[in-house]
Amino acid sequence: MSASTDYPIDAIRADFPMLKRPMNGRPLVYLDSAATTHKPQQVIDRLSRFYSEEYATVRRGAYSLSHASTALFEGVRAQAAAFFNAGRPEEIVFVRGVTEAVNLVATAIWSRLRPGDEVLVSTMEHHSNIVPWQLVAARAGAIVRPIPIDDRGELDLEALEGMLSEKTRLVSVVHVSNGLGTVNPVAEVARLAHSVGALCMVDGAQSAPHMAIDVQALGCDLFACSGHKMLGPTGVGVLWGRYDVLASLDPYQGGGEMIDVVTFDGTTFDDPPYRFEAGTPAFAQVVGFGAALSYLSALGMDRIADWDAHLLDYATAALDTVPGLRRIGTAAHRSGLVSFVIDGTHPADIGSILDQEGIAIRVGQHCVQPVMARFGLHSTARASFGVYTTTAEVDALVRGLHTARDILV
Ligand code: PLP
Repeated sequence: MSASTDYPIDAIRADFPMLKRPMNGRPLVYLDSAATTHKPQQVIDRLSRFYSEEYATVRRGAYSLSHASTALFEGVRAQAAAFFNAGRPEEIVFVRGVTEAVNLVATAIWSRLRPGDEVLVSTMEHHSNIVPWQLVAARAGAIVRPIPIDDRGELDLEALEGMLSEKTRLVSVVHVSNGLGTVNPVAEVARLAHSVGALCMVDGAQSAPHMAIDVQALGCDLFACSGHKMLGPTGVGVLWGRYDVLASLDPYQGGGEMIDVVTFDGTTFDDPPYRFEAGTPAFAQVVGFGAALSYLSALGMDRIADWDAHLLDYATAALDTVPGLRRIGTAAHRSGLVSFVIDGTHPADIGSILDQEGIAIRVGQHCVQPVMARFGLHSTARASFGVYTTTAEVDALVRGLHTARDILV
C-alpha cells in the first residue's frame, strides 16, 4: 500500500485543534511547520493534567508528589533515549532547543580550543549553528570555516575532505537544511570528521520531526533537536551526546543541581546529564514532550517519512506549474519543505497575499543568510510540512500563488 493511502491523515488532523480555526475568513492552511509545529490534543491534555494534578518540582522534594514528578521527568529521558536509540538515558540532556544545545557544546569545548584551531560548519547552517561557534572561536583565537555547497544545495564532501586537518576540532552540520530542504549525508560527515580526530555534531532541528533518528547509526558524537518542532511544547529540546564525549565536556551554566560539592575553595560537578542541567529544568514541558514522542512513535517515524516524501513529490510537481517559479534547493535527497522565488515578485508580497487566503508560509532569510548570499538572494518563500499537512493544502498554496502572480506581475 502506498504512503498516500495508508496514512491516517483525517484522524491525525482531528487531533490538532489549531487546524480547525479559520484564518482571515478561510480554513487555515498552515505551511510553516519548519518554524514550529502545532500540538495534538494528547500533548495539550498531558500538560494540562500535569499542571492540574501532578505538578511539583523535580529532584529536590522529600515528598511523594516531587518523587512522582521526578519519575515522570526521568521517564521522558529514558523515552527520548529509546526514541533516538541512544546508548543510555544519561546521554540525553534536556535543553531549550537546538540553539541552546549548540551554545552548550560551543561553551563546553571552549577551554579546549587553541589559537588556530578550526571548527567547520556548512554554508547551509542555521545561524544557531554558526554564531555560537564564532563567539567562542573569537575568544579562543580559533577559526570557523564554511564547508561549501553546490548549486543544488548539496554539501561538497570533497571540499570538506580537503579542509580537514589536525587543526580541525569539530565539524557541525545540519541534518536537514531549513533553507533548502537538503538532507545531508551526516554519517559520511561523521566518518570524515573522525578520520582527523575531530568531533561531529548534527543539528537535527528539521530531521527529527520527519524521519526516524538512530544516533548510533548516524555515527556522530552529538545531536540536537527542538521539541516545539516535533509536536511538543516550547522551551524543551534534546542534546544527545555519546556518554564519554559528554563526560569530557566542561559545564555550560552554573547553578543548582549541576554540582557535586560547592565550597568557596572550589566546586566539583555532577556527572552528565545533570552537569548540563543547571537550575530548575522545564520539567512540565519535558512531560509534554514525552506525550509528543509517544504521538510520533504511535504514528511511526517511517510512516511519517513516507508521507513527507509523498508531500514533497506532490508539492515539487505542483509548484513547477507556477510560471516564473524557481525552487531554491534541488538536492537529490530533500525533506520537509520547498523554498522558492517567483520572477518579478518579492517573497514578502507573496506571503501577504497568501495570508489573506488563510495560507501561512514563511518568507525572508530563514536565519540562513549565508545560504541567501550563496544563491544571490535576499529572501525566499518557504512552504514547510508537518505530520498533518495534506495535498489539498498544497493545492491551495498553488492556487494562492497563481493569484499572487496575477496581482504582482
Ligand atoms: N537549526 C535549524 C535547521 C532550524 O531550522 C532551527 C529553527 O528554525 C534551529 C536550528 C533553531 O531551533 P530553535 O530556535 O528551536 O533553537
